[in-house]
Amino acid sequence: GDFAEEVDTLIIGSGPGGYVAAIRAAQLGQKVTVVEKGSTGGVCLNVGCIPSKALIEAGHRYHNAKGSDDMGITAENVSLDFSKVQEWKSGIVNKLTGGVEGLLKGNKVNLVKGEAYFSDSDQVKVSSEDGYGSQTYKFKNCIIATGSRPIEIPNFKFSDRIINSTGAINLNEVPDKLVVIGGGYIGIELAGAYANLGSEVTVLEGEKRILGGFEKQMAQLVQRNLKKKGVTFETQAFAKSAEETKDGVKVTAEVKGEEKTFDADYVLVAVGRRPNSDELGLEQIGVELDEKGLIKVDKQCRTSSSNIYAIGDVIAGPPLAHKASYEGKIAAEAISGEASEIDYLGIPMVVFAEPELASVGYTEAEAKEAGYDAVASKFPFQANGRALSLNETDGFLKLVTRKEDGLVIGAQIAGQNASDMIAEAGLAIEAGMTAEDLAMTIHAHPTLGEITMETAEVALGTPIHIK
Ligand code: FAD
Repeated sequence: GDFAEEVDTLIIGSGPGGYVAAIRAAQLGQKVTVVEKGSTGGVCLNVGCIPSKALIEAGHRYHNAKGSDDMGITAENVSLDFSKVQEWKSGIVNKLTGGVEGLLKGNKVNLVKGEAYFSDSDQVKVSSEDGYGSQTYKFKNCIIATGSRPIEIPNFKFSDRIINSTGAINLNEVPDKLVVIGGGYIGIELAGAYANLGSEVTVLEGEKRILGGFEKQMAQLVQRNLKKKGVTFETQAFAKSAEETKDGVKVTAEVKGEEKTFDADYVLVAVGRRPNSDELGLEQIGVELDEKGLIKVDKQCRTSSSNIYAIGDVIAGPPLAHKASYEGKIAAEAISGEASEIDYLGIPMVVFAEPELASVGYTEAEAKEAGYDAVASKFPFQANGRALSLNETDGFLKLVTRKEDGLVIGAQIAGQNASDMIAEAGLAIEAGMTAEDLAMTIHAHPTLGEITMETAEVALGTPIHIK
């Protein structure tokens, strides 16, 4: 029967946006139901952040095992059993999705499997997994956390050979030849993973350079390293068509105005993602979208319909898991009447490449554009003892500060563990610290963290380890 079940807060999607919002809403005393049509944990846990990092790590270890000749280590008969790698990866995913389900249960959140559709501005109809039955939920507030999906491009219909990131993460063999269309962070991370695992990789990028979201010098470090591993780059390259053969694909692209063809076992199309906002019935309930299909929200993630919120990849901003989770907490708090508001300045962006790239707050150029009298101070990994003993001297840290008082307003890091190091700069921004605060914080020796302290010393004009 279809008696509407009443809930306080209904959340559509259980990715890093939805499940975090659910837990926070439950902590604040709301009766919460989460609807999920796929696997618990969304893209991030199942086919995104976590499994991609697992493959990247397997690639590192395999590649490093074959030769760290600088240190005088040699190894023979290093081999790779890719099905074991995939098994290990799936084990991690299962552990995490199980963990999330346990957390939801522990917080008394009701998890419903099925596809949600708005039948009214305070009602959602959920069709059960088998497609037959349905159940209506009447909510006081709703949070849309339906995420995004890969974009398909003309003439590259997804198939066994023409794959998106999900396909690339779930391959059951290491391709001999892999063509990657798109030099954004997803394309570059997966290109690096498979290059380390033994694939001959070609990256086709439409712009003049890869990783457009990062400063040129940082992107160049990554590109140089990938080239050393045999990755070929074609910039200003537009993929035109793909012809599937019995055991592969032939890709035709226009590269700087000339037609070129590339043979591959698989083609990975990683040209961006589109929001899952088109199959929810939003047009009938007056929830407004922008021209890209992203749901419009205010500073509390509230849509144009006052009891409906939206978070994560389905709204504007960097499509990242921690951004989705951050917004999830804000939305849950807003529903509870708290004054929480979004402030995007402290959201870090990371690329898990070699070296890792990370950025938080303003770049030097962005700070100037925003009207700051900004200074950028730089310190190289080469001048850090820990980096030397790790044999990871590639990279630098750049600290962006306000000239008048040294207030930290941004940082960019290229180098080993940049993904972890960026957290300290994020804290400095969040807490309103100055370069002096960072410089006065005692960092253990020898650590990469000292690079942050030393860069702050550069900002003050008193670095110890560079002249
Ligand atoms: P999602 O995780 O997409 O979850 C949305 C959920 O909603 C899905 O489970 C979906 O099934 C469900 N859903 C959709 N429509 C309905 C409906 N009508 N009814 C019921 N359920 C529905 N981000 C990082 O921060 N770091 C990384 O290292 C990183 N690596 C990535 C690597 C790859 C290969 C990819 C593809 C992405 C990566 N991301 C990374 C991005 C990250 O995965 C996303 O930003 C994040 O998952 C967005 O979270 P979300 O909660 O908005 O949506």
